[in-house]
Amino acid sequence: MPPGTANKRSGPWGPEPNLPDYDMSCASFCWDDAARELDWLPDGKGLNIAHEAVDRHAETPTGNRLAIRWLGREDAVLDFTYNDLKRLTNRFANVLQRLGSGRADTICTLTGRIPELYTTALGTLKNAGVFCPLFSAYGPEPVFQRLSRGDARVLVTTESHYRQKVAPFAKQLPKLRHVLLVDIEEHLGETLLSFPKMMSEAEDAFTIPPTSPEDVALLHFTSGTAGMPKGAVHVHKAVFTHYMTGKYVLDFHPGDVFWCTADPGWVTGVSYGIISPLLHAVTSIVDEADFDAVRWCRILESQKVSIWYTTPTAIRRLMHLKQWPCVQYDLSRLRLVHSVGEPLHPEAVRWGEEALGLPIHDNWWQTETGGIMIANFPCMDIRPGSMGRPLPGIEAAVVRRADAGEIQVVAEPDVQGELALRPGWPSMFRGYLHEEERYKKCFAGGWYLTGDLVRRDKDGYFWFIGRADDIIKSAGHMVGPFEVESALMEHPAVAEAAVIGKPDAISGELVKAFVALKSGFEPADDLRLELMAFAWKRLGSAVAPKEIEFRSTLPKNKAGKIMRRFLKAGELGLTEGDLSTLEAE
Ligand code: AMP
Repeated sequence: MPPGTANKRSGPWGPEPNLPDYDMSCASFCWDDAARELDWLPDGKGLNIAHEAVDRHAETPTGNRLAIRWLGREDAVLDFTYNDLKRLTNRFANVLQRLGSGRADTICTLTGRIPELYTTALGTLKNAGVFCPLFSAYGPEPVFQRLSRGDARVLVTTESHYRQKVAPFAKQLPKLRHVLLVDIEEHLGETLLSFPKMMSEAEDAFTIPPTSPEDVALLHFTSGTAGMPKGAVHVHKAVFTHYMTGKYVLDFHPGDVFWCTADPGWVTGVSYGIISPLLHAVTSIVDEADFDAVRWCRILESQKVSIWYTTPTAIRRLMHLKQWPCVQYDLSRLRLVHSVGEPLHPEAVRWGEEALGLPIHDNWWQTETGGIMIANFPCMDIRPGSMGRPLPGIEAAVVRRADAGEIQVVAEPDVQGELALRPGWPSMFRGYLHEEERYKKCFAGGWYLTGDLVRRDKDGYFWFIGRADDIIKSAGHMVGPFEVESALMEHPAVAEAAVIGKPDAISGELVKAFVALKSGFEPADDLRLELMAFAWKRLGSAVAPKEIEFRSTLPKNKAGKIMRRFLKAGELGLTEGDLSTLEAE
């Protein structure tokens, strides 16, 4: 077993962890404690995430505290206190009311990390609507799929995103009533409106209507292996998990400056890039720009970041630099570094110790779980390469499906199986929108089956092995092979396509497509480039394949289904014998 690695940062920036004794907390934990520590709406009107995140701090001594510091691409800085956030999100809630949008309506964003995104997210929740972020690097096809499947009623975006990605499909989106453009001053029509103008005309005051803990609050699309993306539905009660994980895992203390580098187009960027730090009244840094090693070091130093939540891809990018720029920067304020989204290899944990003076704390969760489920908590030694132990209040197990289909819990340590969670935690997804069967299939024998293969050691630490299905994790982003294959199949030269994740030193996996051509077409570099451009235009940079290989035929099983795993095995250099270790389709 690898030795444990302790977080050695001490001094004024090393407060006692909020969870000082893991075993004791597990024994005594109760979700009602989270319920008691939150505020709830006045007059028994229920529970609302935006009230807990913003309004309960506003107009108290905390109200003037910095809630969000936004760093623009070109070095602009905008500060928002809790009082500012209350006023802005009230205004946006009033904008929605004026547009006739109310309870349970889906409000989407398609923007980069700009202040309007944060106002929209929290204002939507105040208006009892459902916030659904779309990643701005998606191309027109993924945007259309999500707007359409999510029943979007209002979209907040920029003029260029609208013209390139939404306007071509506007007629096929009858439920989309209004588009609010953040970068125009005057309305362009009855449905194409100026966000700033609407905001400037809105009232500052807003009363949150009653919202129950089980009212839908968030819709996050995630990719599946077969079929189009699934909309995971989350409710206001998820705030219990956002709160407890902020307390126990991220270890927020008063005065902390927190930087979550995840984009709010993905679940981490909402649960931890927006909600969780606000619940704890700490300051969040939002950087509009993309990854840049020197910029990032400068931000860590100049903003005095004390807790940093990032991804293995970003850490690997830093590790691969010939010269790590942070030696020139004072990062002594940093006391905790967390990582999520993909496996964090032991070298990365150790690199953290050398380069940052801190080990990196890995944690595990997924869109469906709504919040962190397994973590290397600040109070315990890290086992480099392990995802850690379950959050108090979470029952996690390694399970196996027996021949008859029933679920068996694997009791012995260090045996591979599927990671399962006992349903009932507050941020558990409540459904896949409009797809009840798909939702039901995630549960069996009293467990939620995560689709991840893991093992658990004798001390209860979980170790990630791989996905049980064909989902690709590229730079921390889920990519569904079916969505990519469907786009490629629209090209007149393509007869069949199969898409896999190919191991990559930086992004973890890159999207690789195998293509069989229709008769009359010959494999050629020009055609490969044409297909790459074709896919890129439809899918966007986050999803489109980075490599395309031509094959005369693609491997199939007896039922004629393409066996992506055989292609993947070839890519990994596995032999025929090794294939038996891969899951059957
Ligand atoms: P998403 O739903 O996009 O957040 O992706 C969730 C998936 O990312 C999980 O089911 C895992 O396959 C993977 N994942 C998340 N965190 C980790 C981690 N710490 N180690 C390994 N894989 C992870």
